[in-house]
Amino acid sequence: MSTIAEKIRILRERIAETCAKLSRNPAEVAIVAVTKTVPPQRIQEAVDAGIQILGENRVQEALSKVGSVKGDITWHMVGHLQRNKVKKALDIFDLIQSVDSYDLAREIDCHSRQRNRRTDILIEVNTSGEPTKFGIRPDEALDLVSKLVEMPNINVVGLMTIGAFTDDEGTVRKCFSTLREISETIRSSFKNLDLRWLSMGMSADYIWAIQEGSNMVRIGTAIFGER
Ligand SMILES: *Cc1c(COP(=O)(O)O)cnc(C)c1O
Repeated sequence: MSTIAEKIRILRERIAETCAKLSRNPAEVAIVAVTKTVPPQRIQEAVDAGIQILGENRVQEALSKVGSVKGDITWHMVGHLQRNKVKKALDIFDLIQSVDSYDLAREIDCHSRQRNRRTDILIEVNTSGEPTKFGIRPDEALDLVSKLVEMPNINVVGLMTIGAFTDDEGTVRKCFSTLREISETIRSSFKNLDLRWLSMGMSADYIWAIQEGSNMVRIGTAIFGER
């Protein structure tokens, strides 16, 4: 068994153990394998081991890889997206996890309309308040959603956040509980919105994220090793 397959097996086991304690179904937790800096052959190993969603941070890097990875996979954009890269991004990505402004959403809506598609997006929220992180402020979420639901070629299907950069459990979990609370607020205001995904949790903190309700974890290091 390759080390990547072995790491994925361990990851799935830990997710299953965590879910068991919460009486949650582990099949509800989607794994996005984050493949920045990982060459296509190693990405292929992960796909052959059952990974179905791949996440990339940069449009250019993703463009150089998509053709080389084969299988039943979807690609998610998880990094900051510049408006002038939206066109290219839509050539590759099935879902954009990092929508953090009205203008970016509008651009995705426009280019999606030209292609006759509806693009699934997540809204990225900066729940830690760290200035180095992208994402809207928690108190901006409801207003942004109210504008995005008017865009015909965008589907808002969830929220994404990155936990605080610390190993203090309370601080990190607060970020995740904040995102869950925002999603509950949005759901109660927009009853027709199918806000399915809470994308939160990376290699260092995915267990806490699942404990706070995550159903989409974005994992790089724990699958592919240190970058
Ligand atoms: C790199 C990255 C990840 C994965 O990080 P690891 O700590 O390697 O698991 C997840 N989400 C985003 C947005 C990233 O940029």
